[in-house]
Amino acid sequence: MDLGIKGRRAIVCASSKGLGRGAAEALAEAGVTLTLNARTADVLERTADDIRSRYGVEVRTVAADVTTDDGRAALLEAEPQPDILINNAGGPPPGVWSDWGRAEWEKAVNGNMLTPILLATAVLPGMIEREWGRIVSITSGSVKSPIPQLGLSNGARAGLTGFVGGTARQVAKHGVIMNNILPGQHDTDRIKGLMSATSQRENIGVDEARARAQAAIPRGRFGTAEDFGAICAFLCSEHVGFMVGQNILVDGGAFNSTMG
Ligand code: NAP
Repeated sequence: MDLGIKGRRAIVCASSKGLGRGAAEALAEAGVTLTLNARTADVLERTADDIRSRYGVEVRTVAADVTTDDGRAALLEAEPQPDILINNAGGPPPGVWSDWGRAEWEKAVNGNMLTPILLATAVLPGMIEREWGRIVSITSGSVKSPIPQLGLSNGARAGLTGFVGGTARQVAKHGVIMNNILPGQHDTDRIKGLMSATSQRENIGVDEARARAQAAIPRGRFGTAEDFGAICAFLCSEHVGFMVGQNILVDGGAFNSTMG
């Protein structure tokens, strides 16, 4: 399918690996000019080189922490007029409610709520003026069904979801479309870290933790960055002009529900 976004310009946050990279690759395949971001410069440069050589698109890189004011300023300096913004950052650490005080909550809220809100706020005026924009925020299945050990994610991302729900409906008439993707378990470094924590918590091997987790997903496996990227690119396409403020689960059927 032609996504109709060849020549559009995108900022893809936190995109040297994992879901962000999956989104970047699918956008590159659709002919989008990219500005990629991550904190570790050499890994980011390798990803950018790989995408340039495979898809022949222009790729800029900004090695910075997107959860800081300086990091976001550097991203917006590299790409001041994005048509597409993919909001993403690392997820908070696992634990239980009694592990977290003000400092832990402020970090989670900064990374997974304020950072995407501030980036959206920065790019929205230009998108509105140009009468075209797509903002996709990567949240988590935890927004819909809380994951006990990821309480920081449950809370912070729910705040972002509320912002998008309201704002999407204010900017849609200007051709700016905002939606969220709620990933379930995808086989990235993040899931490797979480499986290692599960193996320690439950006193089982990592392979056993992975096998149990995958058996609990109706699809029978973890998702891949490619599964995720294709859906993310579609949500940035011309074809979503009437799809406003939605929260799209991509979880292999893990959330058990007839509807909604
Ligand atoms: P990942 O494989 O660990 O990749 C994270 C990427 O983000 C890397 O490129 C990393 O590079 C970059 N990054 C992390 N923190 C950053 C920061 N502060 N500033 C800039 N770049 C940063 O993680 P993932 O699985 O793709 O997950 C992406 C997001 O989706 C996370 O918020 C995660 O919690 C959420 N999520 C993931 C899953 C899953 O199953 N994978 C499920 C639900 C939600 P550097 O480390 O070099 O910065």
